[in-house]
Amino acid sequence: MRQFMAEVWWSSLTAAGHGGLDMLDPTERARLESLERPADRGRFLVGAVLLRVAVASHAGIAPTDVSIDRTCNECGAPHGAPRVMNPGMAAPWVSVSHSGVLVVVALSTMGPVGVDVQRIADLKDPAAAAGWVRREALFKARSGGPAAGGSVCELQAPLAGYAAAAALPANDERDVVVLNWP
Ligand SMILES: [Zn+2]
Repeated sequence: MRQFMAEVWWSSLTAAGHGGLDMLDPTERARLESLERPADRGRFLVGAVLLRVAVASHAGIAPTDVSIDRTCNECGAPHGAPRVMNPGMAAPWVSVSHSGVLVVVALSTMGPVGVDVQRIADLKDPAAAAGWVRREALFKARSGGPAAGGSVCELQAPLAGYAAAAALPANDERDVVVLNWP
């Protein structure tokens, strides 16, 4: 896998109609089945697929060959933050977030990453949205391991009415590549 500072991949619930169910592993399918609300199922599906697509594009493997572990540090159930576990691969650090109809994945081979998107109308205090997503992104990056410098940057969500931020090992926003899928 080539080294890269940081990438941010966006998708939305409309991607749930592009198949992708066959990309999930049995653990992910069981998690999907356990979710009752269609919107929750759609967000989880697109998040899991987008993560596989993003990692696969760097590793030069098929999305189905990406190995993801979501073992929760607290209770051992498969609902924790995702980690890439492919043996023999210098796996990237990854982070996934979804809210409303948007899904975002951040990844880097240089250090822990955290990403957060939030539909502003869902917050009690919409004026606090920018600070909220920055704190969430930083929290996620710090739970991924000791940060190696880097910064928290505001992300431009592809739809109005959303706030988003990423905590990345990049010190320069020009090092962040933004992609949309599909
Ligand atoms: Zn748990």
